[in-house]
This record gives sequence, C-alpha cells and structure tokens, in this order.
Amino acid sequence: MSNYDFDLFVIGAGSGGVRAARMSAGLGARVAIAEDRYFGGTCVNVGCVPKKLFVYASEFSGDFNDAAGFGWKAKEEQREFEWSVLKQNKDTEIERLNGIYDSLLGNAGCEIFNGRATIADAHTININGKQVTAEKILVTVGGWPFVPKFEGSEHVITSNETFHLDYLPKKVIVVGGGYIAVEFAGIYNGLGSDTTLIYRGDTLLKRFDHDVSAVITSELEKKGINLQLETNIKKVEKKADGTLIASLTNGESLEADTILYATGRKPLFEGLGLDKVNVELLDNGKIKVNKQFQTTEPSVYALGDIIDTEELTPVALEEGMAFAYTQYGGENRVMDYDHLATAVFCQPNIATVGLTEKEAREQYKDVVIYKSTFSPMRNRLSGNSEKTFMKLIVDKASDKVLGIHMVGGDSGEIIQGLAVALKAGATKAVFDATIGVHPTAAEEFVTMRTPAG
Ligand code: NDP
Repeated sequence: MSNYDFDLFVIGAGSGGVRAARMSAGLGARVAIAEDRYFGGTCVNVGCVPKKLFVYASEFSGDFNDAAGFGWKAKEEQREFEWSVLKQNKDTEIERLNGIYDSLLGNAGCEIFNGRATIADAHTININGKQVTAEKILVTVGGWPFVPKFEGSEHVITSNETFHLDYLPKKVIVVGGGYIAVEFAGIYNGLGSDTTLIYRGDTLLKRFDHDVSAVITSELEKKGINLQLETNIKKVEKKADGTLIASLTNGESLEADTILYATGRKPLFEGLGLDKVNVELLDNGKIKVNKQFQTTEPSVYALGDIIDTEELTPVALEEGMAFAYTQYGGENRVMDYDHLATAVFCQPNIATVGLTEKEAREQYKDVVIYKSTFSPMRNRLSGNSEKTFMKLIVDKASDKVLGIHMVGGDSGEIIQGLAVALKAGATKAVFDATIGVHPTAAEEFVTMRTPAG
C-alpha cells in the first residue's frame, strides 16, 4: 500500500473513468473519483444514450407511413408529436442512469468527490478546497463540442444543448458531415422539423467506405433532408423575433430557428492543471500516452476521448478495463483496436467493421468486393423507397474478409455478430458455409456469391 491518500485518483466520471475506477477498486486499489458535472459523462448525459432515445422517437414517423400498406390507418392529420413528453421521459431515464453510475462507484468502494479536481503536481490534486494525494492520477475528462469562431457563432448550439431545448425546432440547420451531424439531421427530420444539412466537403462521413457515404447521401435526400454540400456558414444574424439568418459561402442565405454545429469535439483540459505536470500533448491536442495509457509524466495516466484513439464509448470502456487489469490485476492488457465495429444511428443505420475498400486496396495486392443493394421485404408492402446496401471486402490471397459495411435497417444490431466473425479471422468460405436466417436482410451477408469487382 502506498503512502498516498489514494492509490488512484480518477478525474472525470465518464464511461472510461467510471470503468477504470470501479475495476481498479474491485482489484483492491484505494480509489477516488471526482466529477463536477454529471455521472456517466457525455455518453449517458449528452451523447449515445439520449441520442438513441431521440432516434427511436424520430423513427415512428416513418413507421406510421409504412403501416398503411399493412392495413393500418394512421392518418397524418391524426398524428401529434409532443416534444415535452419525449424530453421529460428522456430526462427521467438519464437521472435513473446517473443514479446507477453513482451507486456502482459507491458499491465498488470508490470515494466520490462531487467537484472540480485540478492537478497541483504529479501526485497531488486540489478538490473542493482541500488537497489529496495519489500514487497515480488518471485523467478521463473527455471532450466538449467544438464550434469555429465566425460572426454570429454565439447564436448556434451544439449537441450538448439539443438535449435540453424546451422546443422542437421548426426549421433547423445542422452543420457538419460526421457522426453527430448525420444522426441529428435524421432525428430532426424524423420528428418533423424542416431540416437542412450543410457540409463543407463533398462527401458525408468521409472516413467511411465510399459506397456507404454515397448510399447514405442519397437516402438522406430521399427522406427530405435539404442537403447542401461544399458550402459553409459565413455569418449568422439574429433578427428581433429570434429568427436566424445564415449566410452561406455559396452566396445563398437560409432562415432557421435553430442552428446546430456538429463540427467535432475537443478535449476539455481548461483549468485542469496539466501545465503543473510534464504531460505532453500531440499536434492534434490530445494527450500522448504509451500502451499502458501512461503520459510523459510517469504517475499521470489518461484514456478515453482525450487520447488519440477513436472517440467511442466502448473504446473508453475497454481502455478503462485494460488500465485497471494492468495496474492492479497483475496483467499487461494491451488494447487491440483492430476490427472496431461502429454504427451511425442515422436513418437508415450505417454499420461497419474492418477496412474500407480504399484501405483494403492500399494494404492488400488483390481484393475482391461483393455488394448488394435491395429493397427490404417490409418495404414491398409499405412502398417505402429506402434501400438496404451491403458490402464485403475480401483479401483474394487468403480469402479473409477484411471489411463489412451495411446501410440499412437494424445494421447497428447486425454488425456486432459480424464483428466477432471478423475478429475470429473468418474467410469468405466461412461466410459461404454459414446458413442464412430466413427471411432477414442479414442473410444476404452469407449469400453474396458474385464479385462486384
Ligand atoms: P466528426 O469528427 O465525426 O465530424 C466533424 C465534422 O465537422 C466533419 O465533417 C468536419 O469536416 C466538420 N468540421 C470540422 N470543422 C469544421 C469547420 N470549421 N467548419 C465546418 N465544418 C467543420 O465529429 P462529430 O462532432 O460528428 O462527432 C465527434 C465524435 O463523436 C465522432 O468522431 C465519433 O467518434 C463520436 N460519435 C460517435 C457516435 C456513434 O458511435 N454513433 C455518435 C456521435 C458521435 P471535415 O471532414 O471537412 O473536416
């Protein structure tokens, strides 16, 4: 046992921090954790969880439309959506989760500090007017939405505020071409807001496979989202009645009551005291760590969105586990970031694991591509024009499946099992030898036989 007040002091009770604290305490460490905002961090409070609840809400409008072909009468004029009900129910659910996180930490034996912790030196933390010491400090403070500065930028909101609006926007502009922009454009459009999505580039979700980007671009437009690519907002003016006027770089201007900026996130280091220790940052502003999450200050560790790995909850959770087992469990757990499955909860969902076609062609001599685009069975009767797209990328020499991509209903659910197959090194022959589940969309993944190129 160290002579410090604690073996481990965790700053930030988000996904990674809570997991690391809880596991470390379970392995016998004396752990404290500080949080000045909300337990569960971005994911639980202003990210994955409330976002998914909003996504569910937004999907009902499409479901009502689809129902008619199956004999249900759900006339448009009889439907009414109450934002206040959704918001209140969402808030109640988040409060429940906050409580669970709090009790998980307490039950694990962690000492909880409700307050803002700042680093005083390599082993000392200031919290709530007192100083405590720890053998190791783990920084898990997460990120915060980034909004570029421009004339009128004070009138726009970020994903943080979307969860607390007391109204559903009638006319909304969403800016960005990444996960949050695409998901929120779908949410607002589904809930009935007049939605414009503005992206400065020519390809939405440009880190995804190019076919996935193309398919989702066309599906979003089909759903009625006003897509404006290769343009950006220059200036926003607020009129006396609250209307926002966005002047675009293409010379046009648009009116809206709400403008949501989803232009990436930055680590939340302000006032943390990183300058009091020898913690080096990378060029992108994230903390430099080794494979054990140790920073250049040996007693200070960092993980989650503030290090240079994917900003995804399951990544932070796994990093928290690896940290705990390495520091207090007698193991050297090194993260394996390969075959990281991910989903974008837009409509339809996007899900992907492994390499994009471009990455595969750069890394392998010969790749074989299988693709399928079809109308899902449900849409035969609903008349919904939404298509499902699937793609498999295979290394010709080894027959190994390198990448799996899907745009279509439930793809976020379907991809998890496929990620296991990829992690296990499944070949295309294994996919072919797998008997499909009929009738599903997912069975298409084991019945694609003709290469597309
Ligand atoms: P992303 O990094 O995914 O996308 C940011 C977007 O903003 C890009 O299209 C970028 O364009 C654009 N952008 C950046 N700066 C500017 C600017 N000055 N003016 C105009 N556009 C700009 O960030 P998000 O905010 O969407 O999400 C943050 C992270 O959160 C994601 O990367 C993801 O890891 C995580 N997340 C995961 C989700 C999930 O798992 N379903 C859901 C939501 C978030 P360009 O490409 O041209 O630079």
